Amino acid sequence: MSVFHIRRLFCCFGFLFSLMPTHALAADKVAGQVTVQWLGHAAFKLTSVTGKVILIDPFITKNPKLSAEQKDLIKLGKVDLILVTHAHGDHVGDGPALAKQHNAPLYGPAGLGNTLVALGELPAELAPRFNKGGVITPLGEGIKITMTRAEHSSEYLWTNPKTSQAEVHVGGEPAGFIIEFENGFKVYHMGDTGLFGDMSLISRYYQPDLVMIPIGGHFVMNPKDAAFATTHYLKPKYAIPMHYGTNPNLKGTPEEYIGELGKSTTKVLNMKFWEVVKF
Ligand SMILES: [Zn+2]
Repeated sequence: MSVFHIRRLFCCFGFLFSLMPTHALAADKVAGQVTVQWLGHAAFKLTSVTGKVILIDPFITKNPKLSAEQKDLIKLGKVDLILVTHAHGDHVGDGPALAKQHNAPLYGPAGLGNTLVALGELPAELAPRFNKGGVITPLGEGIKITMTRAEHSSEYLWTNPKTSQAEVHVGGEPAGFIIEFENGFKVYHMGDTGLFGDMSLISRYYQPDLVMIPIGGHFVMNPKDAAFATTHYLKPKYAIPMHYGTNPNLKGTPEEYIGELGKSTTKVLNMKFWEVVKF
């Protein structure tokens, strides 16, 4: 898909900007760009070099900050794969509905998959088992997905349709994801997390180019924590602040994060809802 085509598609919602890759292309990689679109909160649409579409934490129709047009799931187009970092409602979101609509597998913590199948939210074939440290290639060998640790919780809150009562079910352990694309570009979606020292190990081992980092505070890192993690542990080329402003508890702002970072080699992309960036 050309830049022009994407600009036409998304001109109503935001801006597109393109960042040239700074790394040399290895012999086994495919030339081209990865498209990253922020769908609000922790939700992203990633389109690979060869056009595969991955949604992460698709909390869309119930996000109070999105417009009616942005909540229209049809406008997402095709979906090949869904990744969910943990079982909280603002991350599972529309995942099961989209998985069924597109016949796209939903990968998340194994305990969450088990619960979604047991409760009848997803058929077993759309909730394949996966866990931390594993590398999977469900979209072909060119796209590698690894589940990483996150410091958070992961209960699945569910309203039983027979009793109308709220129930709490196991949701596995919270996670983040490293995704390596066909052109070698690596994304680290951190999920919901507090600061932890093994961010340094994750960064050193996987060397992500782009990090989606939570900054809202209260449930996750605040801007000061996120800036410390960025400077001391992660050191990515690019960072997209996320998981802020959706509800009154998530007070941290990108401006505070940028201020806490000070002089940094990391370029912060302060994105608007539905904005698109290419790498
Ligand atoms: Zn959460």
